Amino acid sequence: MSSVYLKRKIAPRVANGHPWVFANEVDRIEGEVAGGDIVDVFGHDKKFIGKGYINPKSQILVRILTRSKADTINENWFIEKIRQCWVYRQKIGYTENCRLVFGEADGLPQLIIDKFNDYFVIQTLALGIDVWKPSIVKAIETIFSPKGIYERNDVPVRELEGLPQQKGFLSAPFDTSIIIRENGLQFHVDIENGQKTGYFLDQQDNRRAIQHIVKDADVLGAFTYTGTFEIHAAFYGAKSVLGLDISANAVAQANRNAELNGVHGHCRFETANAFDVLKQWGKDGRQYDVVMLDPPAFTKSRETIQKAITGYKEINLRGMKLVKPGGFLVTSSCTNLVGPELFLEIIEMAAKDARRKIRQVTFQTQAADHPIIWGMENTQYLKFLVVQVQ
Ligand code: SAH
Repeated sequence: MSSVYLKRKIAPRVANGHPWVFANEVDRIEGEVAGGDIVDVFGHDKKFIGKGYINPKSQILVRILTRSKADTINENWFIEKIRQCWVYRQKIGYTENCRLVFGEADGLPQLIIDKFNDYFVIQTLALGIDVWKPSIVKAIETIFSPKGIYERNDVPVRELEGLPQQKGFLSAPFDTSIIIRENGLQFHVDIENGQKTGYFLDQQDNRRAIQHIVKDADVLGAFTYTGTFEIHAAFYGAKSVLGLDISANAVAQANRNAELNGVHGHCRFETANAFDVLKQWGKDGRQYDVVMLDPPAFTKSRETIQKAITGYKEINLRGMKLVKPGGFLVTSSCTNLVGPELFLEIIEMAAKDARRKIRQVTFQTQAADHPIIWGMENTQYLKFLVVQVQ
């Protein structure tokens, strides 16, 4: 096995537990390495730090998989590791659906596995984890005897690792249109063509957080995707619910979900660009008791962070203007580039510009099946805020 030695003068990040070794932190590599190989990582003092996978094509040269010298990275290691992920999820209360593996936060860098009851969707986002796909599939088969496993590697970030974008079955083919249960409701999930892995499990607790404020309310939801928040609102006793999304496919799926839960009488969905429509409806003087927003990330890179800030501010300003005095704004942001403090600042700026007073009802993050590791900023990414708007 080849060895990677770190430079003397680098931040103690890696030694302190962060799994990423950047190329510019490496002093030298002893031995031949090919992309995807497992290497030993040592400090400048030759002290063993861990074992990880290497990709000379990536800026993140090595990602650490284990800090234990005795570990051998092989199929059994993956089975044991993924088993531990499941034990942890069960311990914190998950039974059917959960993010089973949340990459770095589970010590399995760049591996995502979503469990939709008996079906599993995986993403291997770096070369060094991609080469272990057969072992990962074996682990899922061994632990769960699943009805199906699907790969949703149709994500651009793979290209940074020299990997193709692709999707397809990793088990015998199955019907990829499935139904899952959440908070006593049911939702169609399109594993093959839905966004990301097909469903946003990270909002599952937050969807429950709207329970009381939507009672007897007229509710508007934008960026609805398959209608999960809106259908929860209808179920929790909203008088009327309208959901908007720019994607006609998402809207069709949302309407199917409303029917599946028997709320289609007063919960409907329309295809629209939320930026245009919310602006127009503000001018028209429309008012709602509750407005819910869950926009996409707006940016993927730190360089264009201003774009995200502008987008979030704009949409929250427009949303707030549509809230009746005393009503509520339910607003989310899913990018780790905008931290919790910055997000609250953006909302405050939006309130100022809208000339509205707000008070915080609750401020939450992603569900606990997406663990947060302190010191690994990108593991905390979701912000979910409810404010009363005066
Ligand atoms: N709230 C959803 C997730 C929303 S993801 C859930 O919990 O499942 C963000 C959604 O915003 C996507 O469905 C995307 O199609 C939609 N979207 C992106 N830009 C939009 C725009 N300008 N107007 C309306 N919807 C938009």
